[in-house]
Parts: sequence; C-alpha cells; structure tokens
Amino acid sequence: GKGIAVFTSGGDSQGMNSAVRAVVRMGLYVGARVYFIKEGYQGMVDGGDNIVEANWSSVSGIIHKGGTVIGSARCMEFREREGRMRAAKNLIKHGITNLVVIGGDGSLTGANLFRQDWTSLLQLLVKNGEITEEECKANAHLNIVGMVGSIDNDFCGTDMTIGTDSALHRIIEAVDAIAATAYSHQRCFILEVMGRHCGYLALVAALTSEADYVFIPENPPPENWSEKICNKLKQERSMGQRLNIILVAEGAIDQHGQAITAEAVKKVIVDQLGFDTRITVLGHVQRGGSPSAFDRLLGCRMGAEAVLALMEANTATEPCVISLDGNQAVRVPLMGCVLKTQAVARAMKERNWDQAVQMRGRS
Ligand code: ATP
Repeated sequence: GKGIAVFTSGGDSQGMNSAVRAVVRMGLYVGARVYFIKEGYQGMVDGGDNIVEANWSSVSGIIHKGGTVIGSARCMEFREREGRMRAAKNLIKHGITNLVVIGGDGSLTGANLFRQDWTSLLQLLVKNGEITEEECKANAHLNIVGMVGSIDNDFCGTDMTIGTDSALHRIIEAVDAIAATAYSHQRCFILEVMGRHCGYLALVAALTSEADYVFIPENPPPENWSEKICNKLKQERSMGQRLNIILVAEGAIDQHGQAITAEAVKKVIVDQLGFDTRITVLGHVQRGGSPSAFDRLLGCRMGAEAVLALMEANTATEPCVISLDGNQAVRVPLMGCVLKTQAVARAMKERNWDQAVQMRGRS
C-alpha cells in the first residue's frame, strides 16, 4: 500500500490530535502504511526515532487531549535545501511519498516548496550515493495534503480552522469567570485575547459574552475612541450595570496603525472615569484545555478527507488543503489559499482593512 506520513507543524491548536487520529485510522482502513513524524519538520530532517509506523491503537485515547501529542516545532534547517534533502532521504528510506501536514500558512508553504523541489532533491541524493536509482524511481512523486491547525481562524479558504472553536470556549469561560468578580467589586476588566492579524477570536468572544467594547485589527476605532468608550461605559453604569468587560485583540491598532494595548485602554478609563480597572492577559490558556466537540469532529472529517485525497492523487494532482465550506469538508488548491492568506496580511499592514476583510471571505 501507499506510504503516508502525518505531522503537525508551527503553533499547536486543540483538535490536531483528532486530525492525526483520523489520518491514521482512515489510512489503515484504506490499506496504506501510515507513519507519524514527531516534532514537525525537525523530526523529518532528523529522522531516526522521529519517524514511527502507526497502528490502530497508537492513536487511542488522544482525541480528548489538547495540543498535539506527536509534538510540533519550528525548524530552520527545513528552510534550507540541505535540510530538505535530509528530510527527503528519511522519507524515501520508509517509502513515504504522501504527506499530510497540519499547521499554519508557513508550514503549508514549506510543504509546497518541498514538493516542487522533490525531483531535484532525489537526483542529488542519487548523485551523492545516498539513495539508489531504484529508490529514486519508486518514489518519484510526492503528494501533499494540508489541514489548517490554528486558533486564530486566520486562513483564507476555510470557514474554520482546527482549534478556533476550542479557543473561543476558553475565552468565554474566562470572561464568565471574570464577570463574576467584576460584578462583586464593580470593576472594569480589560481582557487581551490572541489573534495577531485576525480579530476573529476577539470579535466572536465579544458578541457571545456581552462585552461592552472590542478592539480588533480589521476595524480600527474612530480617532475619538477614548471619548466613545468612556461614554459607552458611563452609559452602562448609569443603567445599573455593575461591571464592564472590554476585549482587546493582541493585534488591535488605531487608524494610524499604532498598537492599541490593554494598558492604553486602561489608562484612558482610569484617567477619565476613575473606574477600578484591571487587565487580564489570557495568553496560552487559550490554547489549552480539551478540544471542543466541534474541533474534534472537524479534525475527524478533515483527516478522513485528507487520506481520500491522497488515495485519489496522481502525478498531475496539485497539493490541496482540506477546508470547511458551508459544513462540508472540501479540497481547495493549497497555494491559492496560502497566497491569499499572505495577501490579506499585506493588506492589513498597508492598512487596507476593507480589502483585507473582503479577501478573507467568510472566515
Ligand atoms: P503558525 O500559524 O502557528 O505560525 P505556521 O505553520 O505558519 O504556523 P511557521 O513558523 O511559519 O508556522 O512555519 C513552521 C515551519 O514550517 C517552520 O519552522 C519551517 O520549518 C517551515 N517553513 C515555513 N515557511 C517555510 C518556507 N518558506 N520554506 C520552507 N520551510 C518553511
């Protein structure tokens, strides 16, 4: 059967384990040999114990775990040709010519580059006597399928990325917990949530937690935001509300592209209203805890579809990512999505927010 390997790369997210499990079990079901590659591209470059053949029970009892049990890493060597050559050799020694990569746009870009390079890497390996002509012929084509694991929901081409829903659960739990103590002491709380270029987490958390105000990178507030927020908070208090909740995405900016930090918001409120104001930075708590039912199911569906895509692939098949489109797991061109995601990041940097939001589409 075909040799398939699955690995997780870049930042971890809840639901990655479910995706790994689905790839292994679907792969075995269709008669493939399935391998884990531990520690992302680093494990692929280092080989050895990092590449392990999987069986049905090696993915038992992981679906409920957060993070990624097979490890993730950032790997400088894979960015160089020399590193990719070592990775190619390690794969060929196991007869692996099908890769499932679970990661962000960087990881997917790396995978695409690896595939483009594959033929010349193999020729070099033959030339150096590291693999035989037969091994070269038997492993002539590399197939790639990606899945996006990210809590930020910042990838173009999919309605949801694996981990976003669980991160939202964590944020909502934290807001609810803080609201109770804020109520008791009539305090104002500012919560900083993750999302570098993408305000999805902050926006959806604000909508679902009755926050009074939210700052996101895609929609910088008007110049007089300090006046606006103070009026809003005063109004809430005058209607009998005992607390205020403000969410700030970590990438929030003003009209000039300057960061709006939780500290800056606090200063405005303390200086102008004198409210007892506290800051909570949620940080990596958002990546922790067990994956939600939604993320477990998303991982299952995407993982199964990824294997089907690999089984149907031929030498002419372009790499795809499995995306969620209106509750269907579908295949979309990998590089198209990566380029669009990078274009959105550029538009954000150039402060073309409307264009960025439009390009990002439904997600
Ligand atoms: P996150 O969204 O969490 O940042 P990511 O996949 O975008 O996830 P990166 O750190 O950008 O995270 O990439 C992960 C790894 O993928 C890198 O450490 C590197 O090994 C590989 N990689 C990224 N970009 C490239 C590239 N252009 N060429 C080769 N390899 C790359």
